[in-house]
Amino acid sequence: MSTTSGAARQHSSPAGRNWSGTYDYRALRLVEPTSIAELQQLVASTERIRGLGTRHSFNSLPDTTGALVHLGALVGEPVIDPVAMTVMVDAATPYGVAAEFLQRHGYALHNTGSLPHISVAGAISTGTHGSGDVHRNLSSAVAALQLVTAHGELRTVRRGDPGFDGMVVGLGAFGVITRVSLDIQPTFDIRQDAFVDLPWETVLSDFDAVMGAAYSVSLMTHWAASSVDQLWLKTRVVNGEPAEVDAAHLGAAAAPVSLFDTESSNMTPFGGVVGPWSERLYHFRLDATPSLGDEIQSEYLVPRERIVEALTALRGIGERLDGPLAVSEIRTMAGDDLWLSPAYGRDSVGVHFTWRNEPDAVDAVLPDIEAILLPLGARPHWGKHHHVSPADLAPLYPRLAEWGALVTAWDPTGKFGNTLIDELRARALGAVRRLS
Ligand SMILES: Cc1cc2nc3c(=O)[nH]c(=O)nc-3n(C[C@H](O)[C@H](O)[C@H](O)COP(=O)(O)OP(=O)(O)OC[C@H]3O[C@@H](n4cnc5c(N)ncnc54)[C@H](O)[C@@H]3O)c2cc1C
Repeated sequence: MSTTSGAARQHSSPAGRNWSGTYDYRALRLVEPTSIAELQQLVASTERIRGLGTRHSFNSLPDTTGALVHLGALVGEPVIDPVAMTVMVDAATPYGVAAEFLQRHGYALHNTGSLPHISVAGAISTGTHGSGDVHRNLSSAVAALQLVTAHGELRTVRRGDPGFDGMVVGLGAFGVITRVSLDIQPTFDIRQDAFVDLPWETVLSDFDAVMGAAYSVSLMTHWAASSVDQLWLKTRVVNGEPAEVDAAHLGAAAAPVSLFDTESSNMTPFGGVVGPWSERLYHFRLDATPSLGDEIQSEYLVPRERIVEALTALRGIGERLDGPLAVSEIRTMAGDDLWLSPAYGRDSVGVHFTWRNEPDAVDAVLPDIEAILLPLGARPHWGKHHHVSPADLAPLYPRLAEWGALVTAWDPTGKFGNTLIDELRARALGAVRRLS
């Protein structure tokens, strides 16, 4: 999917740019309603319109030829239901704000992405994920969605309703989401420890031992060297245990303290300091700019059973990858049932690339990555930069035909469509016609 070329970035658009400044929205206008009634009227009377979150996607996915609508003016306090064990949040609420609220009231989410700044509606619409062998992505915690549909109706769909599993990772195609209900659990503590120089040999020979070493595990790395740069373990702590976290059995050494001066960096605390989940599962602090800021990101969700093949082949082009690379991150997640989730139907491994903002160099290396990963069944992250066409995306999603039919039922005129969604829907409906 396209990002804007260097030349085009000099021009501003009425709806502005994405967070990293690498894509200018082509939408004709940006609207920020101040009430749900105003939003309903707006949606009913606009030919092409799409929801926009906090702009953290790296491609044209949110875009439209009509109006973008951001619900930042409609963010109120979350509402906890302690019986159902859910929290209802307004769509544009940043995940980190919801997390702080939950922690203050003694609750937690099962997992987080690396950054707390993204909106709940935007994150769940693309299948945003954290790490952990048994943890499904953030979208899997959605218990209900409230949205304004094509005719301006305010409707709620709940887990178990027909089509719900097709609507959560919905790419904005079903309407403008106004509220999201998320599963919660009692709060818990996490400690975060970093290690260096984890041999690639260990990762490739005992991937399960490495990635199963903590509640959430991240490998932060380049590709050409003989070891993974850093191993991050986020370990759940109960009654003070474990008091120590070690990775010597994996062949990794403790990271020097100087590597994580969290006072002056944008990172959450490392060094084994125990703290609430809401201040440890995110890599980045809510009050700081996450990651580099000036960057491009790509990520592919590889079927877990093919990950050793994938990593081995990527290491084979390691020198090329390391050229424009700031850092790669490898994370795991459990499979889920959400039709357009990149982890649909299979345990998956996210192979992520944070690139320096060098579009030409990135675009030169992506075909090599995709030539390795797509034949292994990898699915690109919906919100990151990739070159996979709708024709190649369609066969990656076994429920796409049903998804296309569901989108058409909710949005017969394609009000919430854009280039990608229109093409996916056309392919899906073509498949439906062939089957019937
Ligand atoms: C620094 C950084 C770190 C990241 N880390 C991770 C990570 O750890 N894990 C991961 O999986 N991803 C990660 N991402 C990617 C990011 O989580 C996704 O791109 C996410 O979708 C961005 O959410 P957003 O609120 O910015 O949504 P946007 O980018 O604004 O929109 C994304 C999609 O959501 C739809 N949408 C937004 N709001 C609404 C609404 N109200 N109604 C209907 N549709 C709506 C849009 O139409 C679009 O289709 C990262 C991105 C950045 C910049």
